[in-house]
Amino acid sequence: MKKITCTFRSGILSLVLAAAMLLAALTACSGTTVREANGSVSLPPEAESSAAADASPDPADGSGDPAEGSGDQSVPPAVEADSDEPYPNLYARQEEKTDDNTQKIIYLTFDDGPSENTEKILDTLDRYGIKATFFVTGQYGTKEERETRYQKILDSGNVIGLHTYSHNYDKIYASTDAFLKDLNKIYTEVYEATGFRASLIRFPGGSVSQHNQHICKELIQEIEGRGFTYHDWAVSCGDAEGKQLSASTIAEETVKACADRTKSVVLFHDTPSQGETVKALPSLIESLMSKGYEFRALDPSVKPFHFVIE
Ligand SMILES: [Zn+2]
Repeated sequence: MKKITCTFRSGILSLVLAAAMLLAALTACSGTTVREANGSVSLPPEAESSAAADASPDPADGSGDPAEGSGDQSVPPAVEADSDEPYPNLYARQEEKTDDNTQKIIYLTFDDGPSENTEKILDTLDRYGIKATFFVTGQYGTKEERETRYQKILDSGNVIGLHTYSHNYDKIYASTDAFLKDLNKIYTEVYEATGFRASLIRFPGGSVSQHNQHICKELIQEIEGRGFTYHDWAVSCGDAEGKQLSASTIAEETVKACADRTKSVVLFHDTPSQGETVKALPSLIESLMSKGYEFRALDPSVKPFHFVIE
């Protein structure tokens, strides 16, 4: 078993990336190097379901313009001068990252939804007055159901990040363009439903895994060059590792893993089959609150937690 190491990346990188983003735009995003080189690849454990069926129609081709009629002047982008730019709206604004290590903070993150469990999770978060982050896909429900759920996530003060539309490893990691095409589809669906331009990403399976190690460096360069911030996780609650854990086990293991750390980005799954995750939330939230932790949603200013390519 290979070792996982993680790190909070330096704020300096944000500045480098801002410049690189411009450079990437000028070079039609052909994989401009914006991230320092790393050595060999150390794989994280397989913590994600690989059952993501791809029943979706063809992804958006990137020719649409989610910016049209939005009236939103706060978001950058895209590359106005170059009509050949692939996925010209698939950009985000970089923000300087901060990292206050004096506070005990838990970032709950829910991948793979929205699903029929999303509202139950939102209700629980609301009951405790806390916020979380949802890395969404197009896997579950109808388009209309997803659109309603996106809006509920945002209306309740929680955050949406992107986790690709199909979550189909073979498809999204076939090439960088294939990944961008799929990502652009979920970006556009969320934007058109809510007007919200997502700027956070979680790669399915993590930023470096057995699924994407052949292109992970190029993918990261491309995503960061477009201004997006990607987040891996420090703690997995274990709800998608091939075994059905009980709510009490999920809660106990999560609290145990978080209690050793000042800050934790915790991975959960918002899928129709994860009812035990929903049931585990109240006790783990109460337990971590009693230990002095605050719960927050991620945002572009939070220094991301990354698996390191060694
Ligand atoms: Zn996932």
